Amino acid sequence: MTSELMTSATTPTKFTELGLIPPLLARLTELEYQQPTPIQAQAIPSVLAGRDLIGGANTGSGKTATFALPLLQKIHKGKPLSSQSSKGNYVSGLILVPTRELAKQVADSIKSYAVHFNGAIKTLAVFGGVSANTQMLALRGGTDILVATPGRLLDLISSNAIKLDLVNTLVLDEADRMLSLGFTEELSALLALLPKKKQTLLFSATFPEQVQALTQTLLNDPVEIQVQSSDASTLVQRVFTVNKGEKTAVLAHLIKQHQWRQALIFVNAKNNCEHLAEKLSKRGISAEVFHGDKGQGARSRVLEAFKAGEIEVLIATDIAARGLDIEKLPVVINFNLPRSPSDYMHRIGRSGRAGEVGLALSLIDHEDYHHFKVIEKKNKIRLEREQVEGFEADKVINDTLSAAAKPMAAPEGSGKKKAKKKRKKQASVNADIWAGYSDPE
Ligand code: AMP
Repeated sequence: MTSELMTSATTPTKFTELGLIPPLLARLTELEYQQPTPIQAQAIPSVLAGRDLIGGANTGSGKTATFALPLLQKIHKGKPLSSQSSKGNYVSGLILVPTRELAKQVADSIKSYAVHFNGAIKTLAVFGGVSANTQMLALRGGTDILVATPGRLLDLISSNAIKLDLVNTLVLDEADRMLSLGFTEELSALLALLPKKKQTLLFSATFPEQVQALTQTLLNDPVEIQVQSSDASTLVQRVFTVNKGEKTAVLAHLIKQHQWRQALIFVNAKNNCEHLAEKLSKRGISAEVFHGDKGQGARSRVLEAFKAGEIEVLIATDIAARGLDIEKLPVVINFNLPRSPSDYMHRIGRSGRAGEVGLALSLIDHEDYHHFKVIEKKNKIRLEREQVEGFEADKVINDTLSAAAKPMAAPEGSGKKKAKKKRKKQASVNADIWAGYSDPE
C-alpha cells in the first residue's frame, strides 16, 4: 500500500477550488459553510479524482461532507440508478456506519447537501431496532445511496430487498467503532458481496491493528489524510481532581457556576445515568438520560430535544460518543472516565466541533488517576491537574495526584527495582489513606 500525505502548501482554502459542481457549491453557501475544513480541503479533490482514501478523522472534522459531496457529484454525473427502473433493487453508493443514530445523521446530511438535485438522487438509511418491512418497501426500485448498519444490511440482503452487485463507491465510516462494536464478521460478509472494482473511502478516528489490516486488504493505492479534529485550537481539555464521593457535588457546582447552554455528561453504565440524573435533580438540575436500554423512539426524541436546546443536561453512556453530531456543544464532561483511551477521544469529540471552541472536562478521584494517565499517554496529551475552588481534594490525595501527574522517569538498569519498590510503597500508602473511607455516593 502506498499513501501520501498532502502538505498545507497544496491545500485549497475555498470550496470553489475543490472541483465541486454548482448545485453543491450553492448548497454550501446556503448552509453558511465559510470554507472547507482541513479534511475537506485535503481529501475532496482526490476523492473526486476517483482515488481511494484513508481519512484519519473524528466526527466534528467535517468528514461527512468529505465523502458525501464527491459521492453526490459522482452519482449526478453518471445516471442515478434510482431513475433506471430496470435496475431493480440495487445501490451504487454504500455507506456503512456503526450505529443507528449515525446512520440517520449521515443520511440526513446527504439529503441536505442534495437539495439542488431536486429529488433525483435517492438516499435511504437502514438500521436495526425498527421494523424491517418499512425499509424493504422503501428499498423497492433500489436507491442511489444507502447508509446502513452492517447487521440490518445483511438481513435485508438475505431477504432480497437489496443487492450490492452494482456498488461503485464504498464508505466505511468510523471503521474503528465498527470493529470495536463487534461487527467484524458482518463486515467481512458484506465486503465479500461487493464488486472488486469500486472506490473505497475509509474513515477512522483511531488506527488499531484491526483497522490497519482492513486498510491493507480493502484499499487500492489510497491517499492518506490525517486531521486532528480535537486539537487545542478548538477544544480545551481540563481535568479536575476531586475527593471520591464528591463528584456529584462538583458537577452540580460546575453546571450552576458556568450556566452552560448544554452539557453532555458521560457515565460508564446505563443505570448510572438514571442514578446521576436523580442526584442532580435533588440539587435542582434537571437532566435527561440517553443509553442503549432506551427504545429507539425514546432515544431519537431525547436526542432531538437535546439538539433543539430543550434539554440542557444530557447524561449518556458511550453510545452517545459514537458519531453524534450535536451542533456546537459547549461542554462534554467525563463524570466517569471511559474504559479505553480511544473512547476518550470519541467522547471529547462531541464538543468544539467544526472550528467551534469547546470544552472537555474530566473529573478524577484517586481511583481514576492511574487510568487517566494511561488515557493521556495513549492519546499523547498531558493535562495539568486542577482543583475546583471550594471542593479541593484532600491534601494527601492531592499530593498523590500531583506526584502521579509528573511524567514517570523510565526506570533503567538497577533503578528498575528501586522504582518498583517506590511504586509498591506508594500503592500501600494509597490503600491506607482510603481504608475505611466510605463513599457517600
Ligand atoms: P461531521 O464531522 O461530518 O460530523 O461534521 C460536523 C459538523 O460540522 C456538522 O454539523 C456539519 O454540518 C458541519 N460542517 C461540516 N463542514 C463544515 C464546514 N466546512 N464549515 C462549517 N461547518 C461544517
